[in-house]
Amino acid sequence: MKIKFCNYCGGDVEYKIPASDDHERAICTECKAIHYQNPKIITGVIIEHEGKILLAKRAIEPRYGTWTIPAGFMELDETVQAGAVRECFEETEAMLKNVKLFGVYNTITNSQVYTIFRAQLDGEHFKATTESLDVQLFNHEDIPWDNIAFPCVESALKRFVKEMQTEFFTIALEDIHEDFEGSRKEGYFDS
Ligand SMILES: [Zn+2]
Repeated sequence: MKIKFCNYCGGDVEYKIPASDDHERAICTECKAIHYQNPKIITGVIIEHEGKILLAKRAIEPRYGTWTIPAGFMELDETVQAGAVRECFEETEAMLKNVKLFGVYNTITNSQVYTIFRAQLDGEHFKATTESLDVQLFNHEDIPWDNIAFPCVESALKRFVKEMQTEFFTIALEDIHEDFEGSRKEGYFDS
């Protein structure tokens, strides 16, 4: 998404390719600051409990009302694995154990990188929070495939379900080119 004003002085920006660069950047017309925009990291976790998978129904846009794994933007000063555990608690209150890397997903159209972990529920507690309308454990055959929030979540869940049958998990790197409905709305990828 294009920025309009300078973060430092509030001046107007213009898009130009700076000297010795090869990408257009937002450059402040007043203080001359160059604003670099780079992909954001989203970190999430697939949670298994007694052969079932924990999913949360989104209470926020984008994709309000669709099902997803707990995931969200990585914060400053945290690791991707800590971020996944934190997002899980914020969205489901679930505590996790055996957190392992499951995949890295380049979501090209949205300029995001997802790090997705797998983990097991530690204890039995989970519930809906301000960020989720509902939280449920699903048998793999009951996963609402036509109402999953994001293409990369769907891809990760499908591989997880397949590998869960064999109890042999891989770590994959995938490029996701498919977009999701409403992804172009302004403001979704700002924070
Ligand atoms: Zn400025």
